Amino acid sequence: MTNVLSLINVSKSYKTGKPNQITVLDNINLQVKKGEVVGLIAPSGAGKSTLLHIAGLLDLPNGGEVMIDGVDYTNLPDFKRTQVRRQDIGFVYQFHHLLPEFTAVENLILPQMANGVNYFKAERSALELLSSIGLSSRATHRPAELSGGEQQRVAFCRAMVNSPKLLLADEPTGNLDPETAERVLSILMNLVNETGMSAVIATHNHELAKKMDCQLSLRQGKLTRL
Ligand code: ADP
Ligand code: MG
Repeated sequence: MTNVLSLINVSKSYKTGKPNQITVLDNINLQVKKGEVVGLIAPSGAGKSTLLHIAGLLDLPNGGEVMIDGVDYTNLPDFKRTQVRRQDIGFVYQFHHLLPEFTAVENLILPQMANGVNYFKAERSALELLSSIGLSSRATHRPAELSGGEQQRVAFCRAMVNSPKLLLADEPTGNLDPETAERVLSILMNLVNETGMSAVIATHNHELAKKMDCQLSLRQGKLTRL
């Protein structure tokens, strides 16, 4: 079966003033199967965001290949990379990045309409998603009227509303207190498992990562299975 995400011999280094450069990803390999949830555990500065940006086609590696669902996007033109990013990849960050002027349900309707879904169908699936994470009663609230945990739950829904094949989450509970983080992560895991999508979830919390199918550590540019 084709892997949903495949990183093959991917390297990334940054120039930090001549002649210095730091190698953040050193020839790494990663395969994520359909429905698999991978926890990426590493301390701050280890390269988690760099890896997720490259996997999500937001940045290019210096070497190696990035394949989504069997297609190598490394050398394809920007419009092709943007197209697959919009259709097949969902992102969640530490901060929710919801549109402040719009309600929770509108924040879930807009990305669907941008993908060609009509308003009424978009509204229906937005409300269904909110209901599935217990937020029906907050549908008409703006982000500022939601708690941190609720904002993050809406951000998960937004990342999933167009049914991507791959979810990339960069410390998605990093701004929450430990108890809320655990609850919110369970909700995310349920959503991912129900839809059968694949995910890579970066965290520096080992306890949270234990809920995932496998755990990888990223240190000194190398990826190892824990
Ligand atoms: P993490 O997400 O694990 O905290 P990052 O991927 O953000 O780590 O960063 C990994 C390393 O790469 C850090 O040392 C950081 O300073 C460096 N880095 C990240 N982005 C850049 C950049 N655009 N230019 C130079 N160095 C960078
Ligand atoms: Mg980071």
